[in-house]
Amino acid sequence: MEAREQMNIVIVGHVDHGKSTVIGRLLADTGSLPEGKLESVKEFCRKNARPFEYAFLLDALKDEQAQGITIDTARCFFKTNKRDYIIIDAPGHVEFLKNMVTGASRAEAALLVIDAKEGIKENSKRHGHIVSMLGIKQVVVLVNKMDLVGFDREVYEAIVSEFGEFLQKVNIRPINYIPISAFNGDNIAQRSRNTLWYDGPTVLEQLDGFVNKKENRQLPFRMPVQDIYKFTEEGDDRRIVAGTIISGSISVGDEVVFLPSNKKSVIKSIEGFNVKPRNTAYADEAIGVTLTTQIYIKPGELMVKANEKHPSVSSRFRANIFWVGKAPLIKNKNYKLKIGTMKIGVKLIEISHIIDAAELNIDTFKDQVERHDVAECIFETAKPIAYDVISEIEQTGRFVIVDNYEISGGGIILEAVPDTDSSL
Ligand code: GDP
Repeated sequence: MEAREQMNIVIVGHVDHGKSTVIGRLLADTGSLPEGKLESVKEFCRKNARPFEYAFLLDALKDEQAQGITIDTARCFFKTNKRDYIIIDAPGHVEFLKNMVTGASRAEAALLVIDAKEGIKENSKRHGHIVSMLGIKQVVVLVNKMDLVGFDREVYEAIVSEFGEFLQKVNIRPINYIPISAFNGDNIAQRSRNTLWYDGPTVLEQLDGFVNKKENRQLPFRMPVQDIYKFTEEGDDRRIVAGTIISGSISVGDEVVFLPSNKKSVIKSIEGFNVKPRNTAYADEAIGVTLTTQIYIKPGELMVKANEKHPSVSSRFRANIFWVGKAPLIKNKNYKLKIGTMKIGVKLIEISHIIDAAELNIDTFKDQVERHDVAECIFETAKPIAYDVISEIEQTGRFVIVDNYEISGGGIILEAVPDTDSSL
């Protein structure tokens, strides 16, 4: 059986604007709840003379999930015919930002929820800003609780225009704005009769319309060199270049380039551990290769295919970083950067802006990054390194920073920054 496609979605919005209700409704309307769960929670509410809330349903599910396993962020699963969705619902949570910025869990798309009656709050803007910093490109705004404003088109359009103006400033162009009533299910799975003036997709149609990241195997080939083993066979000096394939595939006869050294060769054989030599190997496999020519390369280099898109090679790059170090991250101090199998000296050169994860305050004037801050900044490594930007290949676009032998920050690379010529 073929594995089903999965997509991570993040849902954000001011408290009480209806995130839990949207999620609960999506679970209920796609038939993704355990049998009888909805009824038993409704029954519980009736018995206790409390109005039913989808939030209770989610709490009940999370309690079950939490038994025996620890979950760091609230995660909910539902299925459509097209794929399985994992909804990550913990914005503003230190853990959430950490996972997103360090790449532990990336979201392909974001839903921003706004209460039609309350309108845009400061938090709605902060969340917009964070979504932008995380580099999430597929964004949809859900204008919720439309029932409280009589499904008034003018109210919806005023929010679309006001929020759109703000989002543009933080470089987000939402794919869509959807008027919904999460509580009643309007435009969630079913098109609503209350919004005949709206002819866009329902939330479910929109989700299925999002484009998912490519499978690792379909991406260009990348293998960070872990080690070089030397041995003599039939009087010949042989070298095996060992590592784990991050993405793509490699075959005997392929021309390869090692970056940043730019040395080239051709694959002579592919050997696995405890398996016979073979012609082709794929993402996630640990392999060793021999080359047709004797070249001297070092662990830490990135092996790529000559005829595929190459990674960036530079010493400066723009990144988002999540800092967990006890001491703040400061400019011009020497740190160690680990990316793939490469370890190299690095300095923080410039801070564009900082968001503190606990309060979500945005600061453009701080000149150091403190514990639990998320910062967009420019780093410079001691020598050029090979990497991909996070939007192209995740695993080669992530790094960690080590301060005093401790992992103190994790980040994602957004873009290469041209090296300045220090001789000028
Ligand atoms: P969260 O804090 O963003 O997760 O918000 P909740 O989903 O818990 O919703 C907050 C309150 O708004 C709850 O009392 C919900 O029942 C209510 N609510 C959510 N969606 C709607 C809606 O579409 N219409 C109405 N009238 N109330 C809603």
